[in-house]
Amino acid sequence: MAPVAPQVARGAAATARAVLHHTGTLPRATFTFRADTLAVMLRSIILAAARSSRMEKLVATAPVSRNIVSNYVAGTRTEDALRVTRELVEGGLKVTLDYLGEDTFHTHQAEATRDEYLRLLASLRADGLTPAAEVSVKLSALGQRFDEEMSVRLAEEICAAAETSGTTVTIDMEDHTVTDTTLDAIHRLRETYPGTGAVLQSYLRRTEADCREFAAKGSRVRLCKGAYAEPESVAYQSRLDIDRSYVRCLNALMRGDGYPMLATHDPRLVEIGIDRAKWFDRGPHSFEFQMLYGIRPEEQRRLADEGYQVRVYVPYGDEWYGYLMRRMAEKPANLGLFLRSLGRKV
Ligand SMILES: Cc1cc2nc3c(=O)[nH]c(=O)nc-3n(C[C@H](O)[C@H](O)[C@H](O)COP(=O)(O)OP(=O)(O)OC[C@H]3O[C@@H](n4cnc5c(N)ncnc54)[C@H](O)[C@@H]3O)c2cc1C
Repeated sequence: MAPVAPQVARGAAATARAVLHHTGTLPRATFTFRADTLAVMLRSIILAAARSSRMEKLVATAPVSRNIVSNYVAGTRTEDALRVTRELVEGGLKVTLDYLGEDTFHTHQAEATRDEYLRLLASLRADGLTPAAEVSVKLSALGQRFDEEMSVRLAEEICAAAETSGTTVTIDMEDHTVTDTTLDAIHRLRETYPGTGAVLQSYLRRTEADCREFAAKGSRVRLCKGAYAEPESVAYQSRLDIDRSYVRCLNALMRGDGYPMLATHDPRLVEIGIDRAKWFDRGPHSFEFQMLYGIRPEEQRRLADEGYQVRVYVPYGDEWYGYLMRRMAEKPANLGLFLRSLGRKV
């Protein structure tokens, strides 16, 4: 039987060829509609592949994958993470570090992830990189999907180490099946570590209400669009609806008393963030922009030079597959690059 992954890749490649084929022949409005629809389809295919272990094997061994990975990931070792952090911090940027890994189903793996964060936090402190650098943690990497209590306990240990190192933790948000348990965990962590950051995703229909609830004094909230394939019942599907929701959520956070962390590379949303800061009379130290390592670095610099706080999300480690696939799904141009790299292997 033919392996699933090449079929997925060939299906996606055929769809991409169809888009190119139509570019010159369709009226502009029709093409825009079809391109948008096909982009949503391609995104779903890539995000489905992000959960496939067969696809993971294929991508991990594809010759070009490593080059693509290095655009988005600092490296595999703690030293790589520290080196990149040092460069960014010396350049006036802030950092949040993510030790790559998700969906852990073994206690020893979850504990190994905890141990790496503890090592990292001690090194950040020793190198004088805190508080400019903090860490981002996925509860699924701490075993949330098979032992929720354990994941919160391990997260508490990471928060304690962060406090000792003079910095904070932000709990990344994953797909909608864990939104409630993740937000509950954050409420629990905040009882002892009030600086623990939450992440809310504007593609979820519930998020505007969550933003109002989380906009309380001292509450650090990262607002992003959301990176997973979600059903229409819980999430907006079109770019326009997701962007409109982002603006409503941004308004709720900027109007409130918390500390908004606007995580987006979208130029229009960055401008709206700047505008709302003026409107709600927020100084540049009462909120921050966040962007991913390797994406729009000149914009990160420009904003920092204009006096805004900018934090770069820096992932590192061996488990880069799921992270890379979500980045591939975000930008149509990345899909072409990615499919061509697979084509050489298939
Ligand atoms: C700091 C940070 C933390 C995040 N944490 C989470 C999280 O915890 N949970 C979660 O679900 N999602 C998270 N995300 C991902 C987020 O949800 C989006 O998937 C991602 O940021 C793309 O959305 P965008 O707002 O940049 O807008 P888009 O409309 O996707 O992109 C706007 C523009 O940015 C550029 N761009 C965006 N993505 C790429 C890319 N991959 N490669 C090259 N250029 C690109 C392009 O120029 C694009 O036109 C995080 C994002 C950031 C920046």
